[in-house]
Amino acid sequence: MDRLVNPPRIIGLTGGIGMGKTTVSNYLAQKHLPILDADLYAREVVQTGSPVFAKIIDRYSPKILRSDGTLDRPQLGEIIFNQPSERTWLEQQIHPYVRQILSQERDRLIQKFETIVLVIPLLFEAEMTDLVTEIWVVSCPPDPQIERLIQRGLTREQAQARINSQMTIAEKCERSQVILDNSSTLENLLKQVDSALTQNPEPIKPQPFST
Ligand code: ATP
Repeated sequence: MDRLVNPPRIIGLTGGIGMGKTTVSNYLAQKHLPILDADLYAREVVQTGSPVFAKIIDRYSPKILRSDGTLDRPQLGEIIFNQPSERTWLEQQIHPYVRQILSQERDRLIQKFETIVLVIPLLFEAEMTDLVTEIWVVSCPPDPQIERLIQRGLTREQAQARINSQMTIAEKCERSQVILDNSSTLENLLKQVDSALTQNPEPIKPQPFST
């Protein structure tokens, strides 16, 4: 077995919406670190024909579909970001699948790589911290966060509703080992990433790995 000598680093990358997680994960991918993206899996589990897709139609009627039969994500977004109980319901359907896929893929990759990255926007909210050995949070002040979301096509109100649906960034920072401050330039952000990669903080807890 060519399993690694050093304990694996499993970085859980999180942060508020629009604060720079993808920017950081793209940079880490350029450095050839394998990336697992929870958002990608969350999209997969609501694809046409999946069990979760069927439950969503049961709950909201076929009006939640576009004319091509796929989920109307903006319409669903309007519901869940304005009604916390609906968001909770949807997350309860999606998160167990996402957790299962992340966990399986993590165990597979950790056989081959010393460091892997799990990008999990709702790492704390979905209680997935046990999947990782260290937590990095990307943080920025509210103004650039809202401006970046508006640039992506959300209204100010929509941006605010999405921000309000998440745990505050202050609390996320408190619970993280590494804080990446994205309040200035990209160059400055990426320097912090380089530094965090060399620092190797103490693991947050021993993880069960299948070897
Ligand atoms: P989401 O939560 O929606 O997935 P995210 O946390 O992954 O968002 P990014 O997509 O990395 O955030 O960044 C949001 C937008 O802000 C992107 O268009 C990105 O290019 C831009 N951006 C991120 N950091 C900076 C920065 N320091 N300066 C200027 N633009 C930035």
